[in-house]
Amino acid sequence: MSALYIFILATFLVSDISCRRFPVKNKSRQLFLSRRVVTDSREFDGGVLVDENGIISGIFTRESIDELTFEDDYTLQVIDGGDWALMAGVVDSHVHVNEPGRTSWEGYVTATRAAAAGGITTLVDMPLNSFPPTTSIENLKVKASTAREEVYIDVAFWGGIIPGNEMELQNMIEAGVIGFKGYLIDSGITEFPNVEKDELDNIFSTLNGSDVVIAFHTELPINAGNDTECENCEVPDPNLYSTYLASHPPEMELNAASLLASYIPKYDVHVHVVHVSAEGVIPILEAAREERIKAGSKRWRGGVTAETCHHYLTFSSEQIPPGHTEFKCSPPIRNITNKQRLWEYIKERRIDLIASDHSPSIATLKGPNFMTAWGGIASVQFGLSLFWTEAKARGLSLSTVSHYLSSGPAHLCGLQNRKGTLKPGLDADIVFFDPEASFVVTPDIILYKNKLSPYMYRVLTGKVMKTYVRGQLVYTDGIVIYKPQGHLLINYKALFNTTTAITPHEPQEFQLRNNNMLPIATNIAVPTKSQGDLQRNDNVPPNTRNSAGLIKPQGQLLINDNLLFDTTTSYPIMSRRLFRTYL
Ligand SMILES: [Zn+2]
Repeated sequence: MSALYIFILATFLVSDISCRRFPVKNKSRQLFLSRRVVTDSREFDGGVLVDENGIISGIFTRESIDELTFEDDYTLQVIDGGDWALMAGVVDSHVHVNEPGRTSWEGYVTATRAAAAGGITTLVDMPLNSFPPTTSIENLKVKASTAREEVYIDVAFWGGIIPGNEMELQNMIEAGVIGFKGYLIDSGITEFPNVEKDELDNIFSTLNGSDVVIAFHTELPINAGNDTECENCEVPDPNLYSTYLASHPPEMELNAASLLASYIPKYDVHVHVVHVSAEGVIPILEAAREERIKAGSKRWRGGVTAETCHHYLTFSSEQIPPGHTEFKCSPPIRNITNKQRLWEYIKERRIDLIASDHSPSIATLKGPNFMTAWGGIASVQFGLSLFWTEAKARGLSLSTVSHYLSSGPAHLCGLQNRKGTLKPGLDADIVFFDPEASFVVTPDIILYKNKLSPYMYRVLTGKVMKTYVRGQLVYTDGIVIYKPQGHLLINYKALFNTTTAITPHEPQEFQLRNNNMLPIATNIAVPTKSQGDLQRNDNVPPNTRNSAGLIKPQGQLLINDNLLFDTTTSYPIMSRRLFRTYL
């Protein structure tokens, strides 16, 4: 009997505590154990061995663990989850953090803490609704400078495509964006205009042959210029969800998907459709994919992919009460038949990934009018439980969950050799998930900034118990570990020159799919942060409360600083702190 086996047995017998540590010399290796190790293709009783650098070095069944010899290894840390499922961390490829510029909507601290509590180990930040939007290399620098000391999990970035920014794309690719997001319809954000049909050729040809993804908000306006007077028509009640739903029929999505599909044979670019709501989009994309593959494309899924989101898989339009605009999103939640069809596609593996489209805003932008309320649903903390609640009820497995929430998005982002599954050589991004537990969504457990949610007081099945990023514990038993330890998954060398300070926890190198990324210079002085830094007031985590239990300072300026300050300026590191919005 090996020393390791004796140790594991002793751990079981001594207590139900899930973590024991041998004397540690330096940073130790770790062995994560579970009766339910889940990959994207199977479940088994076994463990995951993680090296000193937080990289998975082996996957073992319970029997093969017993055969391993660790007798001389007194630094091995064994973390036994018992019956909790041991899964790869969730990769959420669609999150709107909104910092800087609209930090009152969401910031990096709050978004990444909520994500950690939800079992997400990597999120990809959308290029809007921050200000400035991520539509140029300079704006990406602003984003990354803002995020770099604030992230509790790993964060990658989408760039944005707007009319006329083609010259910026190459620089952003070299800096490590995973792809570009564009709109085919008004985004609602003036600084992020949509692209017109006649600009698509130019965009596709600019990115032709590159490894990055073009993602589109896939709706086209309908009836433009066709408004007719109607004297006897009743004005529909804007507080009814049906009024909003009627204004965004499925044809808007189908027309846009067909438009994109018409470019797929002409250009070698990965096209991704974000947040599919109308089920009819999927067959359109499948036909385009089939053509691509027939033509010899070796891209993942033929370079034609689609995601849908938790709200389309949880709700149907019939359930949405009048005036409850926390359910408003674009494209809209559709009827029960549409929802059931989306689930059929999931069972048949005809959708490629699931994302949150976490898109928060402040309460004053909502109100009861569906036609004027800001659209967007916040859910980054609950995606794993939301999907499992519905998937379990339909008899799907945890492997299916891992396929859609971790492996699929990692592939989309080009992170499949680093993230998204349990495999030797990948980052030890690990979640212990209790699939049998349930909990109620209440305001006091929500960690993202604006506690507006269509899921409020809903009972969810499956609870995230512990989250590890690269082997480091970031969330346990309701508590987010204080210190931000996340990495930005960018190419620092290309984005910042080497005289820029690099904080100790940032990666020394990062290689996405571009092969032109270089290691970063090390041993550079890190500037210390002022303790009295007033900018922290909108992002202070709860465990920095002072002895009186109060967070200081908490006041907000009741102004619109986007209008008050000149926000066209690229923010220097100090002045940007003033720009955080307090609408
Ligand atoms: Zn979005």
